[in-house]
Amino acid sequence: MGGGRPIVVQTMCNTHTYDVEATVAQIRRLAAAGAQMVRITVPGLADVEHVRQIRARLAEAGCTVPIVADIHFSSRTAIEVAPLVEKVRINPGNFHPDHEQASARFQELIEVCRTHGTAIRIGLNHGSLGRYITDLYGNTPQAMAEAAMEWIRMCVEADFYQVVVSLKASNTVVMTQAYRQLAAMMKEYGVEFPLHLGVTEAGNGDAGRIKSCVGIATLLREGIGDTVRVSLTEDPENEIPVARFLADRYGEGLHGDYPDAGMLEAACEWGPRLLCREIDAIPASAGLSPYLEDEIMQAARRRFYRPEYIACPGCGRTMYNLEETFEEVKRRTSHLKGMVIAVMGCIVNGPGEMADADWGYVGEGGGKVSIYHEGKPVLTHVPDSEAIDALLKLIGGQQ
Ligand code: SF4
Repeated sequence: MGGGRPIVVQTMCNTHTYDVEATVAQIRRLAAAGAQMVRITVPGLADVEHVRQIRARLAEAGCTVPIVADIHFSSRTAIEVAPLVEKVRINPGNFHPDHEQASARFQELIEVCRTHGTAIRIGLNHGSLGRYITDLYGNTPQAMAEAAMEWIRMCVEADFYQVVVSLKASNTVVMTQAYRQLAAMMKEYGVEFPLHLGVTEAGNGDAGRIKSCVGIATLLREGIGDTVRVSLTEDPENEIPVARFLADRYGEGLHGDYPDAGMLEAACEWGPRLLCREIDAIPASAGLSPYLEDEIMQAARRRFYRPEYIACPGCGRTMYNLEETFEEVKRRTSHLKGMVIAVMGCIVNGPGEMADADWGYVGEGGGKVSIYHEGKPVLTHVPDSEAIDALLKLIGGQQ
């Protein structure tokens, strides 16, 4: 990817990696649906063996889609799994709690990746930047770009160039600013690694698709971006036609049928102009329905006509039925215009990745939920059958 090659479409499994059977089946389905790269979560060392089995099973089935190992909080796992996959995604913000140790472990990872021809994705997310970087730059797009540059320099100094970088955020303005700043910094530095684009926790349905299109299209139309993932809180297969639409529209051109093509086209046509403040409203001549206009305005963060939802797509770390819960939360909070409400699959990454949320519903595991208010847990170990009521009661008490 990169260097003027076509934009690569990728997605991520939402199966548990220890469930080898289900993960292999999902990877095969995703590859058949057009995913050109599939990420799986590798939560700990015990899962390295599961990845080995998944690889073997895929090879037997003749499935050669590149596999990306997603790592958080365990640099040792990254190093162990690197020989088994095409790419390792690490989040510098949680690669190792100690910054010096993190750098040392990263050097180790680079050497393993060099030996095995494995690429590295430096994958930062707004909200999960390390203390080290937020102390210097705050929780800003600049902080994201500066943090990425530090790890990019480590790669270049180690003469390692199999690198791709992402700076995702759920806020389309933050996300586009961060990528833009990084693209400019890399240009100045003289080494431009490919960029993986995505809007995190975009949610589901029309809103999730429109928000992803607005954020990603804003950058692709500026020539920024080499690979995309549309994160939806749905079956990951549903992400692929949307990502394909974006890759084709800004790549080799649209051809054939795409589901929801009219809606995606409107989001790509008008969203970036609104987000970049080239226009303040969608002209009536565009002939869009008021609903579509509202959704595009909200995705571009120009007008909020309903609550802003942040929901992770779910992955092997998800602790409950995310899709159902998210739908229920949306149904019962739809009157809270302008409020930012997050529904996150796990307590490991959820709290960090819902940086903008006023309220958060975070799965703890074991049928329990934590409720967050402005980044802090205000109620923990709530049985999941009572958690939505508890959330609404808390919100009501604050209004
Ligand atoms: S927040 Fe969601 S997508 Fe991210 S690691 Fe947790 S369950 Fe997976």
